[in-house]
Amino acid sequence: MFDTQAQPEPLARADSEIQYDLCVIGAGIAGLNALYVATEYLPKGARVALIDRRARCGGMWNDTYDYVRLHQPHPMFTTGNRPWDWSKPSSYLAKRGEVREHLGQCLGDIKGKLDIDEIYGAEVVGTQEVLEGGAAVALVTYRDVATGKSQTIRTKQVIDAIGIDVPQSAPLSVTSTSVLSTTPIGLRHDLSRNKDAHAVVVGGGKTGMDTILAILEENPDREITLLCGKGTFFASRDQFFPEGASRYWSGSTIFQAFRDLSQRFDGTNESDVNEYFKRTYAISPTPEAQQFLFGLLSKDECARIEDGLSAIHYDYLEDVADGPDGPELVLRGGSRIPVPAGTMIINCTGHVLRNNRPQVPILSEHGTILTISTRASIHFLSTVSAYFLTHLLYRRQLRDVPLYVIDHNQMMAHGRHIFHIGGVMQAYYNTLVLIDVLPMSVILRCGLDFDRWYPMYRRMASLAPAMISKKSEMARCRGILDDVAQRTGVLCAPLSAG
Ligand SMILES: Cc1cc2nc3c(=O)[nH]c(=O)nc-3n(C[C@H](O)[C@H](O)[C@H](O)COP(=O)(O)OP(=O)(O)OC[C@H]3O[C@@H](n4cnc5c(N)ncnc54)[C@H](O)[C@@H]3O)c2cc1C
Repeated sequence: MFDTQAQPEPLARADSEIQYDLCVIGAGIAGLNALYVATEYLPKGARVALIDRRARCGGMWNDTYDYVRLHQPHPMFTTGNRPWDWSKPSSYLAKRGEVREHLGQCLGDIKGKLDIDEIYGAEVVGTQEVLEGGAAVALVTYRDVATGKSQTIRTKQVIDAIGIDVPQSAPLSVTSTSVLSTTPIGLRHDLSRNKDAHAVVVGGGKTGMDTILAILEENPDREITLLCGKGTFFASRDQFFPEGASRYWSGSTIFQAFRDLSQRFDGTNESDVNEYFKRTYAISPTPEAQQFLFGLLSKDECARIEDGLSAIHYDYLEDVADGPDGPELVLRGGSRIPVPAGTMIINCTGHVLRNNRPQVPILSEHGTILTISTRASIHFLSTVSAYFLTHLLYRRQLRDVPLYVIDHNQMMAHGRHIFHIGGVMQAYYNTLVLIDVLPMSVILRCGLDFDRWYPMYRRMASLAPAMISKKSEMARCRGILDDVAQRTGVLCAPLSAG
């Protein structure tokens, strides 16, 4: 996944070389899913290197804001189908520390099966496939973040699973000197030191919603202004995860909803289908919201947010400037909105799917490097991509499967509606492909599948109509995805094409 032309040091100057069966880059949940699946194929005690630039496994769950909660019920956020070591209700939305601990336990289990060298605080700066005596091997060069010292290892297989690679956000830069520009990280501290300060939440996505709820929890009377751009709507958690016994008869499976949307999408009408999704399956405290970013929200959260907001502006923040009467929010649309001195400007703007990593094929020429990133992905969830791509890799099926790959970064940059509806159609189509090419046991053991919320008979009932017309539905999806590629110029193509 790295540009080998741009490596800072030639591989020949490596300090030493070690032999591994597998090297996984990225110890977030995507990398851990890849490792989990690898345990099913590698012999017990196989030598594995797990490299991450952070200080421990867990990826973004180590250092994102402390009041983050899972969108989905916790059982569906795991490695493979490993259960959580507790007996909380299945609808419980785990907190940051709980997710981190669970991922640590997942790795603990894996360590019982493989001989893993955990190499933390190490940034991979290059991967390279080389032929040695007719056989292909991979070289991975990493640099110790603390010392800058680099090292190269030799391995039979690399799974470069940096996945979403969530970056930390920074405070927005503003010219006013009388407001506090901050981020969700450390917000609780800022709130406790600025008891009555007005809060301006910049960004109406999941981080913005979590932030509003955290502010209200600390002080329900605090004035909160939301700047939400075009506004974001969310899949209704109550509809996709109905609580209690009602999951036996009510609610929609994700598969059903994705099929519904895919059948309505003709390759050009993504804005209409996006609007249909909003009317039929979604919820938002910002009624004019136009975009969906695959987040979930409950009716209760939505109502609390609506009640707690003092003002909503469908506009973008350009600056906070000190005017003659105090600070003003300067909006892209031209308005200037006065805010009290001491206002907290909280940066909740989206920062995922914006990295400029190079786009590389999912599988290298000789098959030694599998790349799981958002630049060429088989699913909008890095977790699902990691689980299935690793199965296909070790089953030697990756070259043959008719999966479709999308550059999700570029598709999002092209347009939010096509990112949403194109991503849904890709997920729907690829699910049908995976059902076709993998044993049912592999499909059913994917604990990341949101539809595991429902009893098996409901899952099977939602699959059945698609199975009957599978061939024609798949052909239609392929045609439409090809049209999307042609119209947008964004990578949206069969995996085999890359
Ligand atoms: C605020 C927020 C909330 C979210 N909530 C949910 C949720 O509730 N449910 C859900 O399903 N998804 C959620 N997501 C999406 C989330 O990003 C994924 O669920 C998941 O955590 C991503 O895992 P990952 O392994 O792909 O990426 P990360 O967690 O970012 O892990 C990638 C790892 O790769 C490492 N890495 C990257 N480059 C290198 C390199 N060159 N060398 C060495 N190491 C490297 C990074 O240090 C990192 O540890 C959320 C995202 C955000 C931003």
